[in-house]
Amino acid sequence: LRKPIIAANWKMFKTIAETEVYIDKLMAKELPKQVDIVLCPPFTGLESAAMAVTGTEIKIGAQNMHFEASGAYTGEISPVMLGDLNVQYVILGHSERRKFFHETNEIINKKVHTAFKYDLTPILCVGETIEEKEAGKTLEVLKQQIDQGIAWLTANQVAKMVIAYEPVWAIGTGKSPTPADANDSVKAIRKYIQEIYDMETAQQVRIQYGGSVKPENIKDFLTQSDIDGALVGGASLAADSFYSMLV
Ligand code: 13P
Repeated sequence: LRKPIIAANWKMFKTIAETEVYIDKLMAKELPKQVDIVLCPPFTGLESAAMAVTGTEIKIGAQNMHFEASGAYTGEISPVMLGDLNVQYVILGHSERRKFFHETNEIINKKVHTAFKYDLTPILCVGETIEEKEAGKTLEVLKQQIDQGIAWLTANQVAKMVIAYEPVWAIGTGKSPTPADANDSVKAIRKYIQEIYDMETAQQVRIQYGGSVKPENIKDFLTQSDIDGALVGGASLAADSFYSMLV
């Protein structure tokens, strides 16, 4: 069945030195084999992180990238550059990218296609805002983000990608949906994928939950039928805290 995947999204935190100390701490422990572990440092930490985890089970992901392989895009980082550093995953369409950097489903869809073209596994983030939730629009918003975010992908690609359901109101707030409610949203996402593709594809795609996940509540989410892992922000910043969520 689906292997759980737990990813640390460090956001705009950690210098290179802090990255190295963190990874040393993590590697001093016995890492579980039954879960995929992904660390997503900011761009400047990717090279040292990728070197530090060489030969281990830990994988490295970027938090964003451009959809072109190269070009006149001042300040941007391309998929080819990530591949150069042995980065294997890339978070795309995080709500902070949508909100602060105006990324649309259309742009995110281009990035998802580019990720596959350059052998990166996309972690596509979707989730409703508090206004959308209160207006009863959660499922509508998720359907649109999925329809547009994965448009034109092959079933094979969708089966290999990772989706993160992150209700925007749960990010960094200490609030979260009940595990049952989170599971219902994740199930809905799986159903949309089944409608667009087929049952097999829907059963293969891994869907994480993200939003105020911490050592005290992670098991409640991971034991749900359709939740295949977690995308952790704040509680992933300390190596001990992140490790305790893996085991
Ligand atoms: P927090 O775990 O800090 O709520 O952040 C979640 C998140 O945005 C992960 O991508």
